Amino acid sequence: MTSTTNTSPDTARNGSDNLPDENGFFGEYGGRLVPPGLISVLREVTEAYETARKDPAFIEEYRALLSEYVGRPSPIYFAKRLTEKLGGSKIYLKREDLNHTGAHKINHTLGEALLAKRMGKSKLLAETGAGQHGVALATAAAIVGLQCEIHMGAIDIEKQHQNVLRMRMLGATVVPVESGGRCLKDAVDSAFTTYLAGHDRTFFGIGSVVGPHPYPMMIRDFQSIVGEEARRQMLEREGRLPDVLVACVGGGSNAIGLFSAFLNDAVDMIGVEPAGRSFKKGDHAATLTFGKPGAIHGMFTYLLQDENGVPDPVHSVASGLDYPGVGPQHSYLKDSGRVSYVTANDEETLNAFSVLSKTEGIIPALESAHAVAHAIKIAPDMDSDAIILVNLSGRGDKDIDYVAERIMPS
Ligand SMILES: *Cc1c(COP(=O)(O)O)cnc(C)c1O
Repeated sequence: MTSTTNTSPDTARNGSDNLPDENGFFGEYGGRLVPPGLISVLREVTEAYETARKDPAFIEEYRALLSEYVGRPSPIYFAKRLTEKLGGSKIYLKREDLNHTGAHKINHTLGEALLAKRMGKSKLLAETGAGQHGVALATAAAIVGLQCEIHMGAIDIEKQHQNVLRMRMLGATVVPVESGGRCLKDAVDSAFTTYLAGHDRTFFGIGSVVGPHPYPMMIRDFQSIVGEEARRQMLEREGRLPDVLVACVGGGSNAIGLFSAFLNDAVDMIGVEPAGRSFKKGDHAATLTFGKPGAIHGMFTYLLQDENGVPDPVHSVASGLDYPGVGPQHSYLKDSGRVSYVTANDEETLNAFSVLSKTEGIIPALESAHAVAHAIKIAPDMDSDAIILVNLSGRGDKDIDYVAERIMPS
């Protein structure tokens, strides 16, 4: 792993750290904390991925989908009116909201679908909470020609009717989960049980840089296209790199996708976690800010947890960010100090949603609005020739009903 070209998904591994190690550890974080029966299954995925990522035919098929189907490269956009309004540094947006399906998730679900096909699997399987991952995976399954089965809590199915319809229209089977609290956690258990029973023909499609090795590495590599493009685009547009990168962090895939290309550069990086309603337990999902290392979903990582290691309940206005864990590479980058992790609360986020919509005509996803909120905080105190690049991970069409109720009560 010494060199890379523009056609390899390898950017992220060119860093001096060259992580993770062969067991999937980023420092002390990551690994494979799974039942023994699953180790060989994960090994099979790792081996298939290691071969695929060096295979020019695989890379070409993936890259062709990214350009012709997703519409990549997504532009970087100078937010001139927002910059003028704030009166400080220049603000650029990396426009992942312009991707087909409206967010960055399609970058990794396509990678997963192609790998599944290459492994001879016939079906993609996953759980989904708000449905964003389910829709992105169902889309990838359709274009690559695989079946798709999405497990979803019965309560989430009621709340996220639009996404359920989307998944069904894309040909996916949505399995309602009636056990436990009938939410995401129960959907995870249900999907996992199904996977254990049928992994010979099924590929588990994880929705962020989380879970056991190789997923945090693999999803990061698929998302590294974001940073690779942004780095080149900034050099073309400004003749230099940005001073600060800002991205929201749920599991951490859009953030690591952007950051991975800049790890060896003199660029500050900031991950923004959701501070929700307050800093009280249960009111936020600021894992790296308030969590402690522990085990969740097959990995060792920062975790919001009680004294017995049970994950805390979490909240955010952005459903894509309410996860009590975080990708292990972020835990590593926090401890090493290479990336700073801060928070934006619900109110700051709703304000950023409204400001970006009105000054730039861009309605951001509530997840992405957390990153915008932090840029709004820091830009006024920065030099006018400094540059902030914000990863606009998705568009806000999915959020307008919710926001309308919250900020414009009739
Ligand atoms: C799912 C989602 C996120 C959060 O996921 P990460 O893995 O942290 O990137 C952020 N933004 C949007 C638009 C999403 O759909």
